[in-house]
Amino acid sequence: MPENHPTPEVKFAIVKEAWAGRKIAQIARKYKVCRDSIYTWMHTAAQACLHALSPQKRGPKFKKLLKSEEVILCLEQKVSDLERELKGLSHDPQAIPSLKYAKLVRPDRCPHCGHTRILLNGYYPVKGADGAFVDMPRFICKQCRKRVYL
Ligand SMILES: [Zn+2]
Repeated sequence: MPENHPTPEVKFAIVKEAWAGRKIAQIARKYKVCRDSIYTWMHTAAQACLHALSPQKRGPKFKKLLKSEEVILCLEQKVSDLERELKGLSHDPQAIPSLKYAKLVRPDRCPHCGHTRILLNGYYPVKGADGAFVDMPRFICKQCRKRVYL
């Protein structure tokens, strides 16, 4: 039996004997440890027991965290996909007059009357950054029939 560094199992056995009411001096002699150590272990064990038995209402919620982190990652992926798509579209003049691009840039509301039904109404040429003309989608309001340009 180790004299100065008992294993945790031995320490626990000592603490259990002390809690059972056996005299500390007797235990100290039996295990060849000093009484102060036994008192320290008893205190440490009591603290650990209290901690283990306390309600863990503020404990970490790993499952919930993981779930929301997954959602965030998924959304970030979607945003970067759309950004890449938009970037690719605006750099490719051939791709701009597409329904996909028109859906991406369609206004939510009519700037004239506030109506929410905005329909694609052809394309109009716009001079791009490189000087070349590209077709931009044009919209029309279903309510006031006014054209909506980007
Ligand atoms: Zn309108």
